[in-house]
Parts: sequence; structure tokens; C-alpha cells
Amino acid sequence: MSQLACRRVLLKLSGEALMGDEDYGIDPKVIGRLADEVMEAREAGAEIALVLGGGNIFRGAGLAAGGMDRVTGDQMGMLATVINALAMQDALEKRGGRARVMSAIKINDVCEDYIRRRAIRHLEKGRITIFAAGVGAPFFTTDSGAALRAIEIGADLLLKATKVDGVYDKDPKKHTDAVRFDSLTYDEVISRDLQVMDTAAFALARDSDLPLRIFDMSQPGVLLKILRGENIGTLVRGRG
Ligand code: UDP
Repeated sequence: MSQLACRRVLLKLSGEALMGDEDYGIDPKVIGRLADEVMEAREAGAEIALVLGGGNIFRGAGLAAGGMDRVTGDQMGMLATVINALAMQDALEKRGGRARVMSAIKINDVCEDYIRRRAIRHLEKGRITIFAAGVGAPFFTTDSGAALRAIEIGADLLLKATKVDGVYDKDPKKHTDAVRFDSLTYDEVISRDLQVMDTAAFALARDSDLPLRIFDMSQPGVLLKILRGENIGTLVRGRG
């Protein structure tokens, strides 16, 4: 629709965003609210892809710290992202949305395999397309999966939802004088040593000049406002 500043976006939600006040798993009310936000943006005409993390269930690094083989731990983490993706698909369908889960690891009794052309077709047909299992390999994160898929599908913008309302010059929880940036270039993020995404994900986004917006998803209606062009959170891009 004409009033949207972005037509096709990829939204990355961390697994922790699904937990609510719990310290594990999925809070149905929380995932329901996130699904409402996504539906609102979809109904306004945006093509929406989602990547969900798995940190609310398992992270390979955490399992390895407890003594497990790292690759096995990462595979469990990837399966955790599939669980979250299925929960989000269900929440979207309960709200009348059309959604498809596509996994980077073959698990096709429960969801589709990721095939780029098919993913683009889903988006063109208005289906909310949820990319699960990150890049499908251990030692990566779903931030890397989000950057990779955003580039592959030609997304106009990668949206990274966090608990903080953007990127600051220092930790705003520890420093009352921390200053939030409205926008940054990729080079400024590196020279100021700011934490935006993990290194592999950041390198992918930077090399492909993929604009990235970091924002706080807890404000109702924020997703649609961003898609309509409001400057919420911090925009990171190739040029200032
Ligand atoms: N993971 C992986 N390869 C990927 C994506 C994820 O091995 O391409 C594993 C890894 O163990 C990771 C876990 O899945 O810790 C959950 O993903 P992530 O930590 O990115 O979730 P989030 O922090 O966003 O909830």
C-alpha cells in the first residue's frame, strides 16, 4: 500500500521475547500480542518475514557450558527455533493470518524446507513467512539467519526487536547519561565498538548494504509505525 515506507521486511524476534515474565518457554499472551502486531502490519499491506530465536528454550553455547557437545547443543538450539516458529504460525493463523514455516534443516513432517524462490512466492501471496533453524549450521545464531534471509529475499529492511529502544553510546541500564543514536553507519558501529548484532550477522548485513533498525517491540503499534516511515529506534545503514 502506498502509505508504507517499506514493502518487504524481515523482523527478528529473540526467543526471550516470547517468555514474558517466565524464565523459560512461551507465554501464550506474549506471543499473541506479537502476532497481533505482525497481523496489523500485514493487513496494512506489508510483506512480512519473521525469524525467531530459540534462547527461551536452548542455546548451544549454554548447553556446551554445561558439558554437552557444542554441535549437538546448537542442533538443539536450532530445533528450539522451529518450536517457536510453529507457535508463532499457530498464533498468526488463530488471528486469521496465513503463515508458513520454512526450516533451514530438513524437518518436513512439521514444516516446509527453506527454498528461496518458494519463500518469495509466499511473501508475494501475502503469507507471513517464518524462517526457522537459523542458517542451518552450528556456531551461528539466528541474527545471522535473519541477515542472510533478509538479503536473499530482497527485504527493504531488517528489523531487530530488542528490550532497549535503540543503540546507545554506552549501556543505558548502567549509565544515566547514555545517549541514543537515531541513525548510524555500519562503519560508525565498528569504530565505536557498538553491539548491534553478532559479528557474522553484522558482516553479512554490512557487505550487502542491508538497512537495519533496532527498536523496542513492547510499544503497541510500533511495527506499523516503523513501516509507515516513523524514525523509531536506531537505523543502521551504509551511508549516514
Ligand atoms: N543456532 C545455530 N545455528 C543457527 C541459528 C541458531 O546453531 O544458524 C542455535 C544456537 O545454539 C543458538 C540457538 O540455536 O544459540 C538459538 O538461537 P539464538 O541464540 O540466535 O536465539 P535468540 O538469542 O535470538 O533467542
